[in-house]
Amino acid sequence: MAKNELLQKASVSENGLNKGLIEEAYYFAQEAHKTQKRYSGEPYISHPVAVADILLNLKLDTSTVITGLLHDTVEDTLVSSKDISDKFGEDVAKLVNGVTKLSKIETYTENKFQAENFRKLILAMSKDIRVLLVKLADRLHNMRTIQFIPQENRRKKIASETLEIYAPLAGRLGMHDFKDELEDLAFQILNPSAYSSLLTRIEYLKKDKSNLTEKIRLRLMKLLSENSIQCEIIGREKKIYSVWKKMQDKQIAFRQLSDIFAYRILSKDIDDCYRILGLIHNRWSAVPGFFKDYISTPKINNYQSIHTTIVGPERQRVELQIRTNQMNAIADKGIAAHWKYKENYNLVNNSSSDPVNVTWLRDLVEILDSGGSSEELLEATKLEMFQDQVFCFTPKGDLIHLPSGSNSIDFAYALHSEIGNRCIGCKINGKPRPLYTKLQNGDEVEVMTSKKPSPSETWENIVTTAKAQSSIRRYFKKEEKNEFASLGFKILEKILNGDKLENNDLKDYASKFNRKTSDEFLIAIGKGHIKPHQLQKLKPKSRLSFFSRYRKSETLDTLPLEINNFNPGIAVHFADCCMPLPQEDIIGLTTIDSGLFIHSSDCSTLTNENKKNDWISATWKNVTKDQYFSSRIKVSVSNEPGSLGKLATIVGNLEGNITNLNISEKGKDFFDMIFVIDVHNLDHLNEIIDSLKQVSNVSSVNRLFINL
Ligand code: MN
Repeated sequence: MAKNELLQKASVSENGLNKGLIEEAYYFAQEAHKTQKRYSGEPYISHPVAVADILLNLKLDTSTVITGLLHDTVEDTLVSSKDISDKFGEDVAKLVNGVTKLSKIETYTENKFQAENFRKLILAMSKDIRVLLVKLADRLHNMRTIQFIPQENRRKKIASETLEIYAPLAGRLGMHDFKDELEDLAFQILNPSAYSSLLTRIEYLKKDKSNLTEKIRLRLMKLLSENSIQCEIIGREKKIYSVWKKMQDKQIAFRQLSDIFAYRILSKDIDDCYRILGLIHNRWSAVPGFFKDYISTPKINNYQSIHTTIVGPERQRVELQIRTNQMNAIADKGIAAHWKYKENYNLVNNSSSDPVNVTWLRDLVEILDSGGSSEELLEATKLEMFQDQVFCFTPKGDLIHLPSGSNSIDFAYALHSEIGNRCIGCKINGKPRPLYTKLQNGDEVEVMTSKKPSPSETWENIVTTAKAQSSIRRYFKKEEKNEFASLGFKILEKILNGDKLENNDLKDYASKFNRKTSDEFLIAIGKGHIKPHQLQKLKPKSRLSFFSRYRKSETLDTLPLEINNFNPGIAVHFADCCMPLPQEDIIGLTTIDSGLFIHSSDCSTLTNENKKNDWISATWKNVTKDQYFSSRIKVSVSNEPGSLGKLATIVGNLEGNITNLNISEKGKDFFDMIFVIDVHNLDHLNEIIDSLKQVSNVSSVNRLFINL
C-alpha cells in the first residue's frame, strides 16, 4: 500500500478525516523510520501505512489513523513523545504512548506466559479503546507478514501470543473479522500440518456440488424466491481454526465436518427479515431454545440479527442468522463500528479531556455487559474490576495484580509474607523509590530485603491489600508474644534462683499450669496471668526443704509456748528466716490463712510497720530435754580431706542433730557449709558453735538468718 492510496482512501472517507494532517504524519513516520527495513526487505514505513489502512477500513477518526502511522516511532526511533504532541497534539501523543507501553509489556512477558492476566492487563492499560484498536491492527499486520521472520521460535511465540491474547480480545470487542483472521494466521504457524489438511478438506467441501451444504442452501433459496423475497444466502465461511477447535472440543471426526451447517441470510430491510423467519419456521421445525431476536432488542453495540436453528431440509440441524446488509457490516466490525453510529462522538474535538476516556470505558463495559451470555457478563464485571487494579511485574516477568493504589509493600506481601516482612526498599523500573510509592500499570518492581524481618507498624496504615494488612498485624502480634514470653522467662528464672531452665523442664512446668506449650506458659507469666507466688511450687525440692521449714507445723498445745488469749488448736510455725530457739526472745505473728508464726524478736523480717498490728507477745515455757528445735549455721572451712566428717562428728558428740546440709564453693580452697541443726536451746547451739570453731581448718562459724 502506497502513500497515495492511503491518502486517497482518507479523502473519500465519510467521517471527515483531516487528510492534510494524515499526510504530515506519513512524512513524519517515513523520516523517522527511513533507515529501517522490515524482515521482508521492504522499507519499514510499509508497516505503519498498512496499520493505518486497517484503521481506515474500520472507519476510525483522524487521531487513530495518525496513531497507526506513528505507533512505532517512539519505541523504535529517536522521536520523543513531546515531538509528537508538539506536532500532532496531546490526543495523538497519548494514544501513541499507550501503544508504546503495551509493546513494552510484551517484552516483559517473554519468560512467563500468563494469558488471562495479560489480557486483563491490556484491557486495564487501554484506558482509551482506540489504543487497543491500534494495537490489534498492528498485530494483524504483523501476523499477515509473519512468514518473513527468520527464527521459527520467534514466529511461534508471536503466534501463540496472538492466539491466546489478541484474538480473544478482538472477540471480546465483537470484532469477529479480526478474531477469525488472527486465529487462522496464528494456527497456520503453530500447527502447519493440521492447518493445511483442514484447508484442503474445506476447499474440497466447498467445490463438491453434491455436498449437502449447497443442497440445503438451494432449498432455502427456493423457498424464499417462491415467495418473491430478494436476499442473499451465504454458507457461513468455515474458519479453519474454529473448525479445529470444534473438532477438539466436541471430538467431531474429520469426515463429519460437512455436518456443521450455518447460513447467513442477508435481506434488504427489516420487514423481510421477519417474513423470512416466518416462512422458514413454517416449513421446518425450530429447535427450541435457539431463537433470539436481536433486531427488536439489539445489543448495545448495535449488533442486530435474528438467530434460529431449525431441523433443515435434509433432516440436518441448520443454524441461521437473518439480518439486513447494514446490520451485517456492524456485526463484523464490532466495537470499531460502534462509535461511528453514535453521532455525539466528535473524537477530534474531544481530544485530550478526561471524559473521553471515561466514555470509552463505559462504552466498552456496556458492550460487554450487553452480551447476554453469562460468560460475557462475567467478563464485563471483571472488566470493571480491572480498572481498580494495577498490573506489575517481577524482574523475572511474573505478573502480579493488585488493587489500584497499592504500593511496593503490597507488592512484596503479594509475593510472600516473608518477603513483605523483610522488605526494606524497592526499585521501580530499575530506579530506587520509596516503599510507599504507588504502583502504575506495567511497573517492574524489584523488592530489596534484609536477612531479618523488620516491618514497620506504620505500614499497616499505608498498605492497600488485605493480605499485607493481615500479615503485618500477624507479625506484630507475634512480636508482642515474643516480648511477653521473654519477660515470662526472666521472671521464672528469678523465681527459680537463676537455675538454668531446660526445654524439658519448661514443658513439664507448662503442663502443671495447664498450658499446652512452653510459649503459652511463658506468655502467661509475662502477662501476669500466672502470678510469681503461684510459681513457688516449681522450686526444686532440695532448695525448698533447705530454705523453708521442714518440721511439720504443730498446734499451740503441744509446744512449750506461752501465748495469752489464744486458741490452743491453732497451727504454729517457727519462722524460717530466724529459726528462734528457747531462751531467745520471741514474738508471734498472725497470718490470715496460715496460722501463727513464731519469730525471734529481733528478726529482720519484722521491721515492716504494716504488720505491727498483728504482733502478739509470746514466751517460752518448760522446754523438756527431749524437745528439739531447728536452727541454721554457716561454717567456712578451708579445703582439707575429711573436713565434713570431722564437723559432723563434733555435732553428733554434742547431741546436735544435723538435718540438712548445703555446701557451696567460695573460692579455690574455701567452702561455705550451711547446716540445719536441731538443738535443745540457744545454749546448746552456742556450745556446738564454740566446738566447731576449735577445728583447725574452720575459719568462721556463725548463726545464719535469712531474709526471705
Ligand atoms: Mn508495529
